[in-house]
Amino acid sequence: MKNKGIHHISIISGDPQVNADFYVKTLGLRLVLKTVNQDDPGTYHLFYANGEGAPGSSITFFPWPMAMQAKPGTGTVSAVSFTVPEGSCDYWIDRFAEQDVKFDTPITRFGKKVLPFYDTDGLKLELVEDEKSKNVPAWKGGTIPEIFSIRGFWGSNLHLTDYTATIDILQDVMDFKLTDESDSEILLTTQSDLGHSIIIEKAEDAKSGTNGRGYVHHIAFRAKDENDLKAMRQKVIELGLSPTQLIDRHVFMSVYFQTPGGVLFEIATDGPGYKSVAESEEEMGKKLFLPPWLEPRRDLIEQRLQPVTV
Ligand code: ZN
Repeated sequence: MKNKGIHHISIISGDPQVNADFYVKTLGLRLVLKTVNQDDPGTYHLFYANGEGAPGSSITFFPWPMAMQAKPGTGTVSAVSFTVPEGSCDYWIDRFAEQDVKFDTPITRFGKKVLPFYDTDGLKLELVEDEKSKNVPAWKGGTIPEIFSIRGFWGSNLHLTDYTATIDILQDVMDFKLTDESDSEILLTTQSDLGHSIIIEKAEDAKSGTNGRGYVHHIAFRAKDENDLKAMRQKVIELGLSPTQLIDRHVFMSVYFQTPGGVLFEIATDGPGYKSVAESEEEMGKKLFLPPWLEPRRDLIEQRLQPVTV
């Protein structure tokens, strides 16, 4: 179960430069892949991660500057949580106060200190102090001192009215175990250092969330390789759900399926990874990556995209 857990999380954002400034400059993540939305090649798909671009660390965005603000509700991912070393929250509170980042008072949840805050599109994020973060190297090129820096995901919160099927999927397909429960929340975990925790918030209100800026489009879970992906896809079918065929995203292979609770899930392979489409480790995220079928249209695509610099 060391290699199971969250792979990446993809979100709709507003302006791409504002988004890049927040995730790279304010939070200290690395832009590891700059590409286009394969379903809408006139817009970006930006991937931020830890220094290595490791599975379990990449938060990705589809920037649509004209998108309306998302509305919270049931059937959505209600928070995305990053893992930071123990004792880091005070540093981050000072940083957020200085940089006018909206944040809430820290809480303790399932024994962990949690600092909730919000990105430039109103997406709820959290920093969770976790001893496991020390097993993951800090990125030396980032803006944050290594002793406090984000190492990747801690996990994610799902706000669900109908959650039994989602628990079955997380346990039977993604290898999570139900490890703790309170009146309002259920914790499921894997043994991984990153992306190992899903919290299900038991929603009392049945009002659905709506798509827009700050909306989590999907959450992807890890498959070791293509054979593992095929086996996991088979388990999804056995649960009575309808996954897509395997889709080649060039940096990983993917399968998507809608869950009965309302959240779109993906399963993605650990490899080949973001480094595989860069000329070198240092060049990760610098040049716009296009899938081979869009490469002949590079000039036109680059002309239409507003430049994003980090
Ligand atoms: Zn994805």
